[in-house]
Amino acid sequence: MIEVDGLRKAFGENEILKGIDLQIRQGEKVVIIGPSGSGKSTLLRCLNFLEIPTGGTVKVHGEYFVKPGGKFDEKHVASLRTEVGMVFQRFNLFPTMTALENVMAAQMKIRKKSREAARETAEKYLRKVGLAERMNHYPGQLSGGQQQRVAIARALAMEPKAMLFDEATSALDPELVGEVLNVIRELAREGMTMVIVTHEMRFAEEVGDTIIFMDQGVIVEEGPPKEFFHNPKHDRTRSFIQKVE
Ligand code: ATP
Ligand code: MG
Repeated sequence: MIEVDGLRKAFGENEILKGIDLQIRQGEKVVIIGPSGSGKSTLLRCLNFLEIPTGGTVKVHGEYFVKPGGKFDEKHVASLRTEVGMVFQRFNLFPTMTALENVMAAQMKIRKKSREAARETAEKYLRKVGLAERMNHYPGQLSGGQQQRVAIARALAMEPKAMLFDEATSALDPELVGEVLNVIRELAREGMTMVIVTHEMRFAEEVGDTIIFMDQGVIVEEGPPKEFFHNPKHDRTRSFIQKVE
């Protein structure tokens, strides 16, 4: 479903991703953990084509994003990007639009849906994230947890084949984390393909099929959650897990 081969990303002289190999199967939940600055967000941004790799390939559904040899295909990117939804730490909702309008906007602009069709889909996904009663509220009238659920509904409304979550709960007050994790849990249960960057280790263990530990731009260790958390192979993994728990 998503294949990453020898992925490299440098900003100027500074190489952040130093050859990442990763295969994500349909329906698989991959959780990425690792210290600040290890390249987790950069990797996710490459999977959503927000960053252009400096080397290697990213394939979504068998289609190359960056072809071997480094040719960048602009046209493909726009359409491929809609197949992979992304949710950020900061929700980035339009403050002057209601929850409903926020979820409708990209559907009309990018998917070229009619207002009616966009509204129907938006209502469906806002109900799904538990916001049936809040559709006509503006972001400023919603809690952080509710705003993040609007952002998730907005991504889902594009009906993506996979979802990327980059520390979706890090900006939230502790009492609001649970409601957002519940939405992600539900998506996992339904079989959505997901890549999740998180510092919530218990959640990682519960929801992940595969846990990946990144450090300094490489994958240090990956494995199924039980093995990964209870019997890590590398010292660096062990000390990281001990530090964050
Ligand atoms: P955190 O846990 O703090 O979110 P991270 O693992 O997500 O960290 P990245 O955000 O991927 O780390 O950043 C990795 C490194 O890349 C950092 O040193 C950062 O300063 C650098 N970096 C990221 N984006 C850019 C950019 N657009 N230009 C220059 N350097 C960048
Ligand atoms: Mg990050």
